[in-house]
Amino acid sequence: MSNGIVIGSGLSGLSAACFLAKSGMKVTVLEKNDTPGGRVRQFQEKGYTFDMGPSWYWMPEVFERFYGHFGKKVSDFYTLKRLDPSYRIFFPKGEQVDIPAGEDALFSLFERFEKGSSVQLRKFLSEAAYKYKVGTEKFVFQPGLSVTELIDKEIVAGLLRLHLLKSMRNYVNQYFKHPYLRQILEFPVLFLGATPQDTPALYSMMNHADLTLGTWYPMGGMYKIIEAMTEIAQSLGVKIVTSQAVEKVEIENKKIRMVYSGNTGYEANWVVNGADYHHFEQEILPESHRTYSEKYWDKRVLAPSCLLYYVGVSKKIPNLLHHNLFFDGDFDKHAEEIYTHPEYPANPLFYVSCTSKTDHTAPEGHENLFILVPVAVGLTDSEAMREKYFNIAIERMEKYTGEKIQGFITYKRSFAQNDFIGDYNSYKGNAYGLANTLLQTANLKPSIKSRKIDNLYYTGHLTVPGPGMPPAMISGEVVANQIIRFS
Ligand SMILES: Cc1cc2nc3c(=O)[nH]c(=O)nc-3n(C[C@H](O)[C@H](O)[C@H](O)COP(=O)(O)OP(=O)(O)OC[C@H]3O[C@@H](n4cnc5c(N)ncnc54)[C@H](O)[C@@H]3O)c2cc1C
Repeated sequence: MSNGIVIGSGLSGLSAACFLAKSGMKVTVLEKNDTPGGRVRQFQEKGYTFDMGPSWYWMPEVFERFYGHFGKKVSDFYTLKRLDPSYRIFFPKGEQVDIPAGEDALFSLFERFEKGSSVQLRKFLSEAAYKYKVGTEKFVFQPGLSVTELIDKEIVAGLLRLHLLKSMRNYVNQYFKHPYLRQILEFPVLFLGATPQDTPALYSMMNHADLTLGTWYPMGGMYKIIEAMTEIAQSLGVKIVTSQAVEKVEIENKKIRMVYSGNTGYEANWVVNGADYHHFEQEILPESHRTYSEKYWDKRVLAPSCLLYYVGVSKKIPNLLHHNLFFDGDFDKHAEEIYTHPEYPANPLFYVSCTSKTDHTAPEGHENLFILVPVAVGLTDSEAMREKYFNIAIERMEKYTGEKIQGFITYKRSFAQNDFIGDYNSYKGNAYGLANTLLQTANLKPSIKSRKIDNLYYTGHLTVPGPGMPPAMISGEVVANQIIRFS
């Protein structure tokens, strides 16, 4: 039986481990932190349960499909609830727009802002559905190792329709005039870590995920996904060793033979690195065995980092929904401060998740708030900055919800760039990996296979298919299939 090591127990590492173990391999997962899950972590404090990373459960069929590979269903592990409204947007002057889950309500909402826009939306969503179908059936499962993968009848025939060379900004503007409608349709691109001007319109497939497939919530929180995946992994014999940071590898004849954590050596016929790609290549591999140089990494466009706040409040805030986007500032200016001229934003847009609207994540009569302010990578992280942006977010929330929040805060913890680096060895403190720009799409991403070491593979949000929970799970499957095929 082939012995393998997966480094990192994020979604991608756990997914790879499950597929490899199912094929009969003996798999050990080495995780630096004391719990599995990577960015999908959870903690409890003072009666509150906080998900530390993801809060949007999109593309539910990807999760269902994953569990299905192992003879399971989502409902074997958790109850999934579709949120309706999906989310609330606070526009300038505090105008609130709720995005409904049903098609008819969505069309009426669009008509409210722009006459005739429901007809346009129908066309737009039909094209988004096509892109989603081609994207999820043809692109995301490709290992990105050869251009021949892209020579597919449907991809070639539909090349113009996929709008790879048109920007999301121009594409949306072609359909809609009202600034709110444009912003609603540009919003999902933020998940991809680049501006709407730099994101190919191919990614309007995300509008299909958002507006048609919907926003869901696993009761018990996002950590239910990790519990489900670890249960599957362990049932297949995977050994998950936590508090075991990989520090060194031993290479012989272009192959990794041993992986070391402290003095403990783990024998390996193959290695999948699911930890930060840059960290493993630049800090663990000897220079002679790296596929990419530091210069290469420095030229990558990273998705943003973020300032996160986990906050417990001893009162209810009726004007919040489960998901709330504070788009009351200048979207383009904030994007410029993230991507073009990296600096702390003057007037940031931010996002608030209030899981206590749906789940028992706070004591009775309290709210559980998760506040996320996107910021550029590589800025200086300090307590003073964290405090400054916390106060900005709270003040704006008070203004738009009409509820006093300062004075009712019973718990508060922040998490920012230094924590991303300290907890996940994240390159430059990025939160979501690599931006999905055209030049960092598919085969143009860092390769899932090392070009210098024969038995070394990579998975996770810095390689194919990209950032987000569903892509990370798919990334694990793609890399596992490569190993299974060639061993
Ligand atoms: C704040 C935030 C919000 C997000 N929101 C959403 C959302 O709403 N919806 C969505 O779909 N996605 C969201 N994402 C993205 C999603 O969480 C990630 O894309 C995904 O979890 C990445 O998984 P991964 O396996 O690639 O990496 P990670 O989760 O980072 O896993 C890598 C693992 O490697 C470990 N590791 C690092 N170095 C070593 C070492 N030397 N030895 C051993 N182990 C090591 C780390 O501890 C970590 O556990 C969000 C991410 C963040 C940070």
